[in-house]
Amino acid sequence: MDNRIKIVVAGPRGRMGKEAVKMVSDTEHFELVAVIDHKNDGMKLSEIDGFSGLNVPIYSNMENCFQHHPADVLIDLTTPEVGMFHARTALEYGIRPVVGTTGFSKEELQELQDLCEDKNLGCIIAPNFAIGAILMMKFSQMASRYFQDVEIIELHHDQKLDAPSGTAVKTAQMISDVRTPKKQGHPEEKETIQGARGATMEGMHIHSVRLPGLIAHQQVMFGADGQSLTIRHDSYNRTSFMSGVKVAVESVMKINTFVYGLENILE
Ligand code: NAP
Repeated sequence: MDNRIKIVVAGPRGRMGKEAVKMVSDTEHFELVAVIDHKNDGMKLSEIDGFSGLNVPIYSNMENCFQHHPADVLIDLTTPEVGMFHARTALEYGIRPVVGTTGFSKEELQELQDLCEDKNLGCIIAPNFAIGAILMMKFSQMASRYFQDVEIIELHHDQKLDAPSGTAVKTAQMISDVRTPKKQGHPEEKETIQGARGATMEGMHIHSVRLPGLIAHQQVMFGADGQSLTIRHDSYNRTSFMSGVKVAVESVMKINTFVYGLENILE
């Protein structure tokens, strides 16, 4: 009997998608059954540059794909608009989504959570699959018990569509779960150029840097009288995310709930 986890990857030609296709095909207990791409419908992945030997079908229509390939897991690495539609459709078909796509609104996350409960299926949405980034968030949450003043600086490549990053928002949420609320900076501070102080979440400031050459980086800076603490994580390539994607695929098969953030499934 074939016990391999059957996987569909959405966004296979993307920077993350390419790595995911490679990770899935290189993992013995995973099987790549199809990919979802809005281009190249009806072709085989092996016909696309960089995917030689991967004889799996390409579908532009997700429902058509799931009707032909009743997979176990969908890995989505596309864009926020499409990713939401993909995750919803997968759940409707009884397929567990593992979503790395960032930029979902609170309402969209709630909708997916409701759908998971309704279908009694697992779903993992992870704004960051890098294990080091999860530790950076956890350590930041720990530090915020002692340091109330914190600013988050996230740095990404200049092709990123959403700002602030999903990781920065998640970090701010984790910090605000334990931090005594505080509006930071001078009470009368004024921006002479709009946006100078970055975005504000629960009184914390988030700054987004976009530059070519960067991949995904974040620095969480805490300040207090006479001292500062900086917690920083750097992803230098997209392979850094794949061990997390693998753990998420394995975990989503064992749960029937909605999980937001990889830190909730790591021991
Ligand atoms: P990317 O290189 O732009 O890849 C996105 C891919 O999605 C592109 O190949 C795009 O195709 C494809 N796509 C667009 N619409 C589609 C559709 N309807 N069906 C199938 N594919 C479609 O972006 P990336 O850097 O790989 O990032 C992908 C997502 O992952 C982003 O949301 C990013 O923020 C997120 N991300 C997450 C993590 C994490 O750890 N969770 C880490 C890095 C990035 P075209 O090229 O033809 O438009």
